[in-house]
Order: sequence, then structure tokens, then C-alpha cells
Amino acid sequence: MGRIILEQVTKSFGDVNVIPPLDLEIEDGEFVVFVGPSGCGKSTLLRLIAGLEDVSSGQISIDGRAATELPPAKRGLAMVFQSYALYPHMSVRKNISFPLKMAGLDQAEQNKRVEAAAKVLNLTDYLDRRPGQLSGGQRQRVAIGRAIVREPAAFLFDEPLSNLDAALRVNMRLEISELHNSLETTMIYVTHDQVEAMTMADKIVVLRAGHIEQVGTPLDLYRNPRNLFVAGFIGSPK
Ligand code: ADP
Ligand code: MG
Repeated sequence: MGRIILEQVTKSFGDVNVIPPLDLEIEDGEFVVFVGPSGCGKSTLLRLIAGLEDVSSGQISIDGRAATELPPAKRGLAMVFQSYALYPHMSVRKNISFPLKMAGLDQAEQNKRVEAAAKVLNLTDYLDRRPGQLSGGQRQRVAIGRAIVREPAAFLFDEPLSNLDAALRVNMRLEISELHNSLETTMIYVTHDQVEAMTMADKIVVLRAGHIEQVGTPLDLYRNPRNLFVAGFIGSPK
């Protein structure tokens, strides 16, 4: 589960084309990082996959199913928002179980999934607190917990660490990598941070003005950047 294929996907806002025809294959269980400068279309691409934006043309399939016409909730993906998207008046438990409640799961199943996610994320002792009583890192873990309980085919992260301080960012980077190792679920991770890309990715997709400059493992891109733009982004001279 978690194989995502984009075929000739385009996106325009009005007359402005933001994503020219783009093809991409993401394998089951891969940790894929979209990297590129601000405004290059990373968030747009993620939102197209999530179904939060409609493609202008082209096809997206998820595990062999045509996803392009499906609403976000039917795609089986979970977008992880930054921690400030938590509900401040709800406990951690309620924040994490919220999507399950919306989906109509019974209370026992909700509790089971929340407790399993809390265990993975070291939040077991914090389930009765409110987000305001947690550290930044704990809040970010709650946001991830809300995605985990849905048991998605893939997780989509849009710069999840950008509002954390530097030390915490390093920590969360490791935690998300460990989470990927234990869940073995596809993760698509958007960042403009080269270090995050190089240290977390199985596969890096380098974007520039909506098109893919190069796709490869961190080592591929480091050793054989196709051009100066990629080299500049990955940090090795060519
Ligand atoms: P990134 O996430 O890489 O910074 P975005 O995907 O947010 O880039 O944006 C890519 C381009 O699309 C930018 O030029 C941005 O202004 C434009 N864009 C994004 N969303 C919209 C929108 N809803 N309406 C019009 N233009 C948009
Ligand atoms: Mg963005």
C-alpha cells in the first residue's frame, strides 16, 4: 500500500501555469522528499496528491485506483499539518481521535488506535493534557498522531518542522525517520531545507518552477547532480 503515480499532471491558477506536465512514481513504503526554492510548487504538488486542489489535467493513481476524481477523504492519505492546527480546547486524546470520530468509528476502536499511536509517539502520559500544556515537539507529535490513527496508505508532510527551533528540528527529523522505519508507510515530505532532504529521503525530487529537475537518492544527487541548480541545492560543487 502507498504506491502513488502521477501522469502528465498539470495545475494552473487562472492563466498562470504552476505545474507543467509532470510524471512521477512513488513506490510503496518510500520516503520521498520534495525539495526546491520557495514558490516552486512543492505545496501545490502535495495538495494535488492529497486532493485539496484539483488537477487541471492529468491523472493521479494511488495503489492502482484512479484518485483524481476522489475527494480527499476517499484517497486514504493523511496530511500532517503544522502543530498549530491542533484544537486548543480539546485534550490530546480528543485531538488525535478527532478524525476517527468524524469517520464514525466506535469508541473502543478509537481508544485502541489512539493508545497505539500515543505509545509510538511517547505521548501516553500526555493524553489528558491540552495542546497549550505541551512543548513544541510534543504538539508536533500530536499532529502526527492524528495522521497515524487513520492508518493511511501514505503520509503527506508540508514543511512540518519549519516553526520549530533548530535543536527541536533535529530531534523531530530523527523521530519522523524512526516512525517511517517502524511503520514502513510511504511518506512524502516537503521542505526547502537541504539537510532535511539529504538526511531523511530514500528519494529526493528536486523541483524548480513546477517541473522536476532531477530525481534520485541523496547519494545519486550528491555525486551526479545534473546541473548547477541541483548541485546548488544539494550542496556539492560540479
Ligand atoms: P512552494 O510550496 O514551493 O513554496 P507553492 O506550491 O505554494 O510553492 O506555490 C507555487 C506557485 O503557485 C507560486 O507562484 C504561488 O504563488 C502559486 N499559487 C499557489 N497557490 C495558489 C492559489 N491558490 N492561487 C494562485 N496562485 C497560487
Ligand atoms: Mg509551500
